[in-house]
Amino acid sequence: MNTNASFSPFSFSTVPNLISEPGIAQRLGNLVTQHFPHARRALLVTDNGFLKTGLVDAPIASLKNAGLAVGIYSDVVADPPEAVVLSAVHEARQNETDLVIGLGGGSSMDVAKLIAVLAGSDQELKTMYGIGNVKGSRLPLIQIPTTAGTGSEVTPISIVTTGATTKMGVVSPKLYADLAILDAELTLGLPAKVTAATGIDAMVHAIEAYTTKHKKNPLSDMLAQKALELLSRNILVACEDGRNLAARQAMLLGAMLAGQSFANAPCAAVHALAYPIGGIFHVPHGLSNSLVLPHVLRFNAPAAADLYAELADIVSPGASGSAEAKTEALIRQMDEIARRTGIETQLRQVGVAEADLDRMADDAMLQTRLLTNNPREVTRTDARAIYAAAL
Ligand SMILES: [Zn+2]
Repeated sequence: MNTNASFSPFSFSTVPNLISEPGIAQRLGNLVTQHFPHARRALLVTDNGFLKTGLVDAPIASLKNAGLAVGIYSDVVADPPEAVVLSAVHEARQNETDLVIGLGGGSSMDVAKLIAVLAGSDQELKTMYGIGNVKGSRLPLIQIPTTAGTGSEVTPISIVTTGATTKMGVVSPKLYADLAILDAELTLGLPAKVTAATGIDAMVHAIEAYTTKHKKNPLSDMLAQKALELLSRNILVACEDGRNLAARQAMLLGAMLAGQSFANAPCAAVHALAYPIGGIFHVPHGLSNSLVLPHVLRFNAPAAADLYAELADIVSPGASGSAEAKTEALIRQMDEIARRTGIETQLRQVGVAEADLDRMADDAMLQTRLLTNNPREVTRTDARAIYAAAL
């Protein structure tokens, strides 16, 4: 343990109000009355797939019972393009929305954040990309995740697809919600493979936050450790028995804690190398991360083995020996989770060929925002070698 770290300056921000309780979404109207007594016209932001599950019916009924008018924007798609954000903002303005509720996966919550800052503002979306560029105020915002992965309910980041394969991020403290609600009843229907990939994504958030080169801090460390404990003990249970409410709630809580952690101690090379897989081959975010994870960890080991060993004590408690041996145990355990849950473990299984690796390495090197945080410097040659190992 590096005691010097306690003297390093740091700052930490998160969402001011959090509620973790199975079934609480059925009482959403009461929560709105309590937290936002002036709200009259809510806009619920979700995707069509989730809308069809019927799981939104009870929260909507609860809002109406509390006297709110409820609009629904359900055209959110994975990796939302700018056009989706702008049409959602149009809908919010038409409805005279005074409360935005993101109810869905990372994409729905990311769109909800941008609606909240755009609907009452003259600022254009394209001037918001980057860090700290959001001006003006935003509408009250509630986030309710329906997957246990992105942690978007507690991050100040929104990712938008701006071209065929390119994405840009809006990062601003204004994107922190007023209230995040964790209700595992909303996640009971998730298929095992989605549970696995999104859960591994959350574990990657904790691992990368704990080993980040910049902004590593004691609060993020504690959150990452607790997140990994909850996620590693519950991910296989939640995959094998999707109706296990306790395991599902633990996964949601773990994903949120990991989100709070990486919102303040940012992600690194796993995410940087995952983005081209998602961008070019349309592989979901969690799976993209899982595919490169073991290979990035092995690459980072010379610089981060001591920290990985601390995480191995949580994820793979039986591991013993040197830091290098424990790092290998951590890698094997993450690999085991992927194999047991049946998700793809090799790039070739998602359509990547040897001939694609150069382009992917080029694209990965553009993720400088993430690469700069990696505990070991990643060159283009390194990135290509990591992809080749993952092929
Ligand atoms: Zn992620």
